[in-house]
Amino acid sequence: MPTRLVMGEDCIFENRDLLIGLGKKALIVTGENSAKASGSLADMVKALEANGQTYALYDKVMSNPTVDCVFEAAELAKSGGCSFVAALGGGSPMDAAKAAAALALTKVEKAGVFGARLTEALPVAAVPTTAGTGSEVTQYAILTNDAAGTKTSVAAPALFPRFAFLDARYTAGLNRNITVNTAIDALSHAVEGMLSVRASALSDALARESIAAIAGCLPVLEAAGTIDMDTRRKLLYASTLAGMVIANTGTTAVHAMGYLLTYNKNIDHGRANGLLFTHFLKFIEEKEKIPGSRRIPAILSALGMQNLDELGRSLDKLLGTREKCIPAELEQYAETAIKAKNISNCVIRADREDLLAIFTKSVG
Ligand code: NAP
Ligand code: ZN
Repeated sequence: MPTRLVMGEDCIFENRDLLIGLGKKALIVTGENSAKASGSLADMVKALEANGQTYALYDKVMSNPTVDCVFEAAELAKSGGCSFVAALGGGSPMDAAKAAAALALTKVEKAGVFGARLTEALPVAAVPTTAGTGSEVTQYAILTNDAAGTKTSVAAPALFPRFAFLDARYTAGLNRNITVNTAIDALSHAVEGMLSVRASALSDALARESIAAIAGCLPVLEAAGTIDMDTRRKLLYASTLAGMVIANTGTTAVHAMGYLLTYNKNIDHGRANGLLFTHFLKFIEEKEKIPGSRRIPAILSALGMQNLDELGRSLDKLLGTREKCIPAELEQYAETAIKAKNISNCVIRADREDLLAIFTKSVG
């Protein structure tokens, strides 16, 4: 994981020297509101000004960023003569910023972006304001892929941010819904990482630590009260660890399937994963009865839980009423999801019928 990570209160300003080597002018990439509301934009601007650096602002990244939006940001980086990118926000602005940083240096047609070889990018300084995606430490940018009717990842080592600044204060204003959804996303990264064919002793160690930290936050997330700063710090720590896991392992079928719920039903990314999570893990547990490496017991041990029903009950509390899809929709989602490359990344490879069964049990 080549990203240099700094964390703690006021870590952007405290470590502003790191930004000096990135050049004279930044393109700051954000969503419409959260970077301003969270204080991360003001802190980045303060650090840049103290360094004598200037910036242009692109603040139009929407949730589930489109290819058009990324190209627009890349154009602004080029026309503004920016030498680096500061990415502030949840996964959507960070992913858009990373892709724009690459497209600022490499000429690619919009239609060819998902197959493009991106070998270089402007350096990126990433500042997460949600605790979920881990995009601040991954080489992935997930973009809406209208041609394929889903979301697809653009992946290249050049997309790893140069720096990540983790300041949990920026997550303080997240409402319960987004906090829960993004925590579930982080949990699914760590768990899917343990189920990846690319899992290693090292990625498993990070994953177990991440899972245990998130499990420790579940009682606070399930309760109706406010979410304290200690919990928020733990969630940010855990989500970055989980990002480090998937940077090494990739994700599996939960993500491949979840993208269809987000694309077609506008369900938040983390929630989409959460809806599918229990039945996906039960599918793995069932198949693992066939001799081979058994990973569900290791995941349950990290969670501190006895069985998957216990996890299912916790997720049910967090998710509330489930969205429902009709059978014809689910057939189509299974048909599209089976083509995703994350499917073959799992120790137990699901086929189309398996995906359909998981979809049906989860949201049928
Ligand atoms: P998001 O789409 O970035 O943001 C969701 C909402 O939260 C937006 O309305 C955003 O507002 C708001 N928000 C963000 N930070 C806030 C704060 N501190 N206070 C109040 N509101 C805040 O959500 P996300 O779950 O973090 O990211 C999801 C995206 O990341 C998806 O596209 C997913 O596919 C991708 N992803 C990427 C990776 C990776 O490795 N690269 C991994 C997993 C998921 P604004 O619009 O105003 O910013
Ligand atoms: Zn995710």
